[in-house]
Amino acid sequence: MNKEASTQAFQQAQNLIPGGVNSPVRAFKSVGGTPIFIAEGEGAYLKDVDGNKYVDFVQSWGPLIFGHRDESIESAVIDAVKHGLSFGAPTQAETDLASLVVDTFDSIDKIRFVSSGTEAVMSAIRLARGFTGRDDIVKFTGCYHGHSDSLLVEAGSGAVTFGNPSSPGVPADFTKHTLLATYNDIESLKKCFADSNDISCVIIEPIAGNMGLVPADKEFLYELKKVCQENGALLIFDEVMSGFRATFHGAESITGVTPDIITLGKVIGGGMPVGAFGARAEIMAKLSPEGPVYQAGTLSGNPVAMAAGLASLKKLKANPKLYSVLESRAKRLVDGMQEEAKKCGITMQTDVRGSMFGFFFNENEVKNFADACTSDAELFAKFHSSMLDNGFYFACSLYETGFISTAITDAMVEDTIKASAKVFQAITNG
Ligand SMILES: *Cc1c(COP(=O)(O)O)cnc(C)c1O
Repeated sequence: MNKEASTQAFQQAQNLIPGGVNSPVRAFKSVGGTPIFIAEGEGAYLKDVDGNKYVDFVQSWGPLIFGHRDESIESAVIDAVKHGLSFGAPTQAETDLASLVVDTFDSIDKIRFVSSGTEAVMSAIRLARGFTGRDDIVKFTGCYHGHSDSLLVEAGSGAVTFGNPSSPGVPADFTKHTLLATYNDIESLKKCFADSNDISCVIIEPIAGNMGLVPADKEFLYELKKVCQENGALLIFDEVMSGFRATFHGAESITGVTPDIITLGKVIGGGMPVGAFGARAEIMAKLSPEGPVYQAGTLSGNPVAMAAGLASLKKLKANPKLYSVLESRAKRLVDGMQEEAKKCGITMQTDVRGSMFGFFFNENEVKNFADACTSDAELFAKFHSSMLDNGFYFACSLYETGFISTAITDAMVEDTIKASAKVFQAITNG
């Protein structure tokens, strides 16, 4: 496979942009090789600047549930662009998107839009602190909640891949209010509450997607909610990734556990920069200008971004069967690859939630971040680069989740499985 143009583009970018990328995981550091430079996307496919074509299982890290250049999203965006890019004043589209989200999530009465998942979570934490009048927060090792200071502690994916669980430049004073618990381990959470009586909130990815795909056990989430309630702490579900990805009505609809605050991003923007956080009215009333907790953004609720989000969510809402279709496709993919791996003596752990899929090269079940870290990283790197050379674009880190879009067909899934068989055979034959 010719990657000359990508290699050249990457070299040029590295002279001007740190690592040649504007978000670290794109750099292929953990899998080796050169990141491909994208020329365009079309449906299920990415095309790189050398003219190679790939089935895209990354979907811009989640947002593109309808694949690239979905017609209705594209035309909604073009239409919005023609009315002006930004006003810094309210528009109807914000209320329309808000209404759709509020109708969809039981635990959200009001919502605020921001421009990224990082911003959504950062603001939600401030709101939880403002609401409870407490300073400490609890997060789970391996969960990623964006790159804001107090959350960049043992934060999964990008941070893990680079062996930088907490980053230089974050003062210890800023993270001393962040307590760490172990995913799917209720005793570790109880210990946090024993150590501090100043805990404002517990934040969790209810379907963790940033240490590979590791869903929380139902029973664990149930206990988690109980512990929060007993201690007067708010429960935040960070659904920036899982929201509208795993199911339409949020993790609360799968797990039966309702959080106090939900953060959203990725799919909610349909490929444009949108994040959001929402909660019951009593909590949201604390937010400026209704309340004293300050939060703002020049481009928040941007009309073009709202148009993309609205088109995307409307289409999801109109297709209630879509998630089970995507889930069975995702399941066939990981089951098929697992079977092929097994034939070559390779053990894979797999899981799916709606359009999200995950796999680990690991002998044992993965329930938390420490488990995920025992996966075979070398094998993953070989798998990744060989699949790429065969025209299948998987996330370039073993700590990421894969995504199926509606543009990916059953036939493409079968082709992927066949390619994986070839790749596993080549790997085992050295
Ligand atoms: C992607 C992600 C974020 C950060 O969102 P950005 O838009 O990248 O800032 C936060 N939380 C979770 C769970 C995510 O997957």
